[in-house]
Amino acid sequence: MSRQVLFGWYAARGGVEVVPEGAGFRSWQAFHDGFPTNEKRRLIVPRGTESVQRLIRHDDVPALLHDVLACTTEDAAVHNTEKWGPLREWRELWQKGFVLVDDVPAWLDLSFAVFCVSELHRSIIERSSQRHMEGKKQGAERDFHIARGAHSLSFTVHGAPGDTESLFARRALAQELQRGVDTARWRPEYHMIRTGEIRSFLVPCDLWSFVWKVVESFQPSVLDTPTATEYSLVRCEYCGVWDIANGHTDDAVPEPMRQNRYTGAWCHDRCKRNFDDERRRIARAEKEGREYRPRQGARVAGPSWLRERGRVVIK
Ligand SMILES: [Zn+2]
Repeated sequence: MSRQVLFGWYAARGGVEVVPEGAGFRSWQAFHDGFPTNEKRRLIVPRGTESVQRLIRHDDVPALLHDVLACTTEDAAVHNTEKWGPLREWRELWQKGFVLVDDVPAWLDLSFAVFCVSELHRSIIERSSQRHMEGKKQGAERDFHIARGAHSLSFTVHGAPGDTESLFARRALAQELQRGVDTARWRPEYHMIRTGEIRSFLVPCDLWSFVWKVVESFQPSVLDTPTATEYSLVRCEYCGVWDIANGHTDDAVPEPMRQNRYTGAWCHDRCKRNFDDERRRIARAEKEGREYRPRQGARVAGPSWLRERGRVVIK
């Protein structure tokens, strides 16, 4: 299942660069004048006109999601366009053929929107439903506020008097998830299944929509959505990385994740071991009256594919 290609896309063969909107293009001529331009808007354009294919398999999805969440700077947006392709479809820029244009703000907005969903999800799993609530905590509505760097999001969730805080947090998650998924675009695809029936599936039209498909499939038990699909990821409660519960098909040594039977939270074995080791060292230092210092060159958190970033190449 994991080797199955979930999404076929493309990126620029010769790499990409950033230009302000309205910049003169060396070899291009404008289609026509008169468009309002915003020079503060930063566009990501290819250095050439040739593209290469990008096939995204289940094993690649955690790395994609990690790159989306880490996308808080222009450099990261450029890196992502180069690695995964543009968020939206190719746009036609006339004269020199088809050219892809991606935009920095779109990557930053997507990153923050996915971060908000991930945070709300986490607050529910960690039984800390009030983490992002603000103001008075009674009546039939709650105000939520989530911030990261220059981005912040405030919204109100409506319920009924007497609803639990956990129910409000679930409504907040469902609401923000829906808001994101509404920005995605889908097209139907038809497949013959084993019984000979023809079934239709909605597939994402572009990388932006594919990311929302993945986010929509986050550990589904939280919103009682249908059982996990091949898109589904779970979040490690120690390193915070969204990963594949059964481990990657490509791993030389499989690293399946573990679920805490009481809380429902997932973790990498290794992350839990590191955490337990550290807790023991802190306790020992305290007992011996020493100040605890993390060891030099302490092991980096996270699963192997993330620690060895060089290995993360999509095929
Ligand atoms: Zn972990």
